[in-house]
Amino acid sequence: MERRVRVRFAPSPTGPLHMGGVRTALYNYLFAKKHGGDFLLRVEDTDQNRFVPGAEEYIQESLKWCGFLPNEGQGVGGELGPYKQSERKEAGLYKKYVQQLLDADKAYYAFDTPEELDQMREDLKKAGVSAPQYNAISRMRMKNSVSLSAEDVEKRMAEGEPYVVRFKMPRNEEIKFKDIIRGWVSVQTANLDDKVLYKSDGMPTYHLANIVDDHLMNISHVIRGEEWLPSAPLHVYLYEAFGWADTMPQFAHLPLLLKPDGNGKLSKRDGDRLGFPVFPLEWKDPSSGEISSGYREKGYFPEAFMNILAFLGWNPGTSQELFSLNELAKTFSLERVGKAGSKFDPDKASWFQQQYLRGKEDAELASLLKGGYSNLDVVKNADEQFLAGVCGMMKERATFLADIPVEGAYFFAAPIEFDEKMTRKKWKDGSAELMTEWLTEFSAITDYTAENIEQTFKSFLEAKEKGIGAVLPLFRLLVTGKGMGPSMFSVAELLGKEETVKRMESGIKTLG
Ligand code: GLU
Repeated sequence: MERRVRVRFAPSPTGPLHMGGVRTALYNYLFAKKHGGDFLLRVEDTDQNRFVPGAEEYIQESLKWCGFLPNEGQGVGGELGPYKQSERKEAGLYKKYVQQLLDADKAYYAFDTPEELDQMREDLKKAGVSAPQYNAISRMRMKNSVSLSAEDVEKRMAEGEPYVVRFKMPRNEEIKFKDIIRGWVSVQTANLDDKVLYKSDGMPTYHLANIVDDHLMNISHVIRGEEWLPSAPLHVYLYEAFGWADTMPQFAHLPLLLKPDGNGKLSKRDGDRLGFPVFPLEWKDPSSGEISSGYREKGYFPEAFMNILAFLGWNPGTSQELFSLNELAKTFSLERVGKAGSKFDPDKASWFQQQYLRGKEDAELASLLKGGYSNLDVVKNADEQFLAGVCGMMKERATFLADIPVEGAYFFAAPIEFDEKMTRKKWKDGSAELMTEWLTEFSAITDYTAENIEQTFKSFLEAKEKGIGAVLPLFRLLVTGKGMGPSMFSVAELLGKEETVKRMESGIKTLG
């Protein structure tokens, strides 16, 4: 029987979710959706020292904004909960698994103090070992249940001496596993250390909790960032040590997100330097108060953000670039995710946003503006149909929805300033007379539509023997104060005849 696809996004609440993290979540979601499986959210908060208040809520809010929610897990519930590791620890979920490894001689107790660990590293360095580690060789000279007698260990335990449980990594074996994206990965255990799995306070470490939970939650595929690739051999070993090798999930390690120049991992600093967010939502650091910008606050549509992220590592193999979340879920496959790091291109990100802005119906844009994309009073007070008209005319010229009422401020109020360059270049002696004549013609239009305005305008040009460039910019200058913009006939139609006439009269007076 085919195994049901069950994937999880397992962030640690140690800060805001980086866009790389959101991409991991997205790929998990798409994979689950494509295979009709489950997408879980599990909070991995075993490292209490790195806990950051607000980070978990931030993760939940980010996924909600992105538009793909888990169907099981933290915040949603499910039969296999709790889905937060600190709560699972409280429920005593991990203890028996540590015991299982200890009983099978796959793990051991270690009593070394931090000073002793430092000393060991120092000694090994002096002896010429470049990367000293706690392993099959060095463990024999440390204080643990492999090197000490059973009585000694018992005594220490009875006296309450703090300890950790370490995995007993075999000395010289080869670990091999197949990664869906990378193919066969092979590692010699001689290069791996005896990782700590459990602490005496009963807290499992990431490695143990992660494997136990993936097993108990029937996870079929582990899709996560490349930074976890070095941990994968230990994880494979743990599955074997537990006797769970036949239900071990398949691994897929996603490529890194790189800086725009390809030179290293994309970081918050690159975003600050080059002016783009690296977080989905704005984040205020609770200790420093520092604010980092977010895609949401910058004005990106979540659909655009999803499309941007989808293409950072994956491609459909066709020239299609715009995909809704549903289309992505149909098309996505891990086989089309590349191994090589994926460069983030801020211009391409803006391009996606522009495409989504253009692709939306005018009425939807108007309601989004009123619904919170803009806080401007002119937007709040505007008639929704009028606003839709403005959006329709301006959406080709903007990147973000909120720019529309700013760039197109003249739709909401008559200009008080006139583009200086335009005025200097176009407004000459005689312009006032010419525009007054045009105003007379304009005022006489009875069936007031963009087409009729255009028709009347053309006849006016003919009668005056003028080219379009000699008159249209002046008309625009008077009505909008600008040198450029959407079709003036449509602008005039939307503003209405009375308002346009008023603006022309007052403009002619001002420019003289
Ligand atoms: N808690 C790990 C993280 O913060 C999860 C790694 C994994 O998916 O196994 O990314």
